[in-house]
Amino acid sequence: MDYHQNGFRPGDPSVAPENRRLKDVADVLIVGSGPAGLTLAAYLAQFPHIHTRLIERRDGPLQIGQADGIACRTMEMFAAFGFVHDVLREAYWVNETAFWAPQGGHIARTGRIDDVEPGLSEMPHVILSQARVQEFYLRAMAQAPTRLTPEYGVTVEGLSIPEDPAAPVEVSLSTGECAKARFVVGCDGARSAVRKALDIPLHGEAANAAWGVMDVLAVTDFPDIRLKCAIQSADEGALLIIPREGGHMVRLYIELDKLAPTERVADLEITPDHLIAGAQRILAPYTLEVREVAWWSVYEIGQRTAPRFADTAPDGPAPRVFIAGDACHTHSPKAGQGMNVSMQDAWNLGWKLQTVLEGRGGRDLLHSYSAERQAIAQDLIDFDKVFAAKFAAKSGATDTEFQNYFQKQGRYTAGVATRYTPSALTGTRHQDLATGFTLGMRFHSAPVIRWADAKPVHLGHVADLSGRWQLYVFAGKDPAAALALLQAPPENTQVNLVLRTPHRDTVLEPELLPRTGALGLRDYGRVFCPAPEADIFAERGIAPEGAAVLVRPDQYVAFIAPPGAAEDITAFLAAALG
Ligand code: FAD
Repeated sequence: MDYHQNGFRPGDPSVAPENRRLKDVADVLIVGSGPAGLTLAAYLAQFPHIHTRLIERRDGPLQIGQADGIACRTMEMFAAFGFVHDVLREAYWVNETAFWAPQGGHIARTGRIDDVEPGLSEMPHVILSQARVQEFYLRAMAQAPTRLTPEYGVTVEGLSIPEDPAAPVEVSLSTGECAKARFVVGCDGARSAVRKALDIPLHGEAANAAWGVMDVLAVTDFPDIRLKCAIQSADEGALLIIPREGGHMVRLYIELDKLAPTERVADLEITPDHLIAGAQRILAPYTLEVREVAWWSVYEIGQRTAPRFADTAPDGPAPRVFIAGDACHTHSPKAGQGMNVSMQDAWNLGWKLQTVLEGRGGRDLLHSYSAERQAIAQDLIDFDKVFAAKFAAKSGATDTEFQNYFQKQGRYTAGVATRYTPSALTGTRHQDLATGFTLGMRFHSAPVIRWADAKPVHLGHVADLSGRWQLYVFAGKDPAAALALLQAPPENTQVNLVLRTPHRDTVLEPELLPRTGALGLRDYGRVFCPAPEADIFAERGIAPEGAAVLVRPDQYVAFIAPPGAAEDITAFLAAALG
């Protein structure tokens, strides 16, 4: 963590000095404080000149229930948001997954594997209540300079978008207020009022799948109760066991029959007793005695996505209203994508809105949100359909098809398969200089040693919520080739220098260190050397002549250039931001 760079300040460094500008017309009005809305709000809350409002119809923060799976990629994102260590401490870590299938009249374990392929991410896949995750976001907002808090108990009832592009969007609230905002983002869930106001349909399955879900405290002789388990019984359906944080609670997902297009879950009149009996039948001959049901729900969901995530088409005027998260795509809970993808949508949009509102980029940059995220959502829904079908398929004792598929698709479920296709924001050249940092994919961090104080750190964790692009300069044989980038980095980039020599053998003139903060101090925290256990140059395929890797504020690799090509990087950024 970086602090005191603008002068000594006593107290908790996580709490930024208060600094905000309230305006009659808000810059961004966010509808809904679920994972998508809170990610966007926590990001925008960092910028004193951006006035953000967050409208939530619930009376207060979410207390229990809903999603719980946090993918490795989301944990990488939480590192930038500053609360990953809280999540690591509280969460259940999904290190292994077990598979059970029918054998000789009852269920038997058919496999037990690593849940995440080794080396895929520095972060584990974890389980923590959505309510708790949301609390961490609320804390991050309260500690940010703008001290942003949700406006609870207020419902957005409709909105109108004036033809004049300079006029604000008008949003009608249940309080009677007509709120005005330059941009509106509907993070208002699967039945989004904002999506309906934009008249954007959802495409996909007409019939919904219904899932019984229960968080229980139970006594059982089933041996894998503290492992994530996919269980397929011969005749009683499928069960997914997700051990929960704290060491005792367990989530059980029980697949119910698919609903007819006109049918609703309420028609099934399901009770917790039905769900417990279903789980007991699937687990037999093992016993399950439920001592407490902490939360339960019958969760009805279709696999659908909207054809666009903004009010205007890609070739139309710059968009002013957006939808994110469940408002524009819904998934089955089996692959654990809903909450994770929603948060990634919001981060993608967040830095683009900030760039435009701070005058660093043209409004057309905002078209890239729908273009990038709609393609990703469609991809995930296609994956989710196959994953869900394989999970529900009845299989024989020797059939390990689902297990093999699960292993093969681990990158999707870990959230690291996202790849943006070539565009103004994703270059195509010089991939050969850094083969392990794929253009369009997230920056895959690796361990390094910080040169100045020999601290082992993760290179990717230098990225924060400053909105700056990270420039990782991997030195070639002659580090002086990178001098131009080090001494005059492109505007709004933060330069990190990675040297090839072991830290104890490295001599660096302090004049080469970047300057930081109001006092013009030297930034000792931005020079790194290879870690003895894993040479980042070898691990990430850096060419002998070195590489400059430019990474967006949401951690995706945008551009690669030789370390001396400062002008190329400046030109790329100018074209990308418009
Ligand atoms: P949401 O989390 O739905 O948040 C939307 C927010 O907008 C809510 O806080 C809502 O109150 C607010 N809102 C809605 N309309 C308005 C309005 N007009 N004005 C103001 N505020 C509004 N996923 C799983 O993986 N496993 C599960 O077991 C699971 N269970 C779920 C159970 C329920 C009851 C629900 C609703 C969802 C569940 N999900 C589950 C899905 C998962 O929670 C979502 O994928 C994830 O929360 C998506 O985040 P989001 O921010 O897009 O939307």
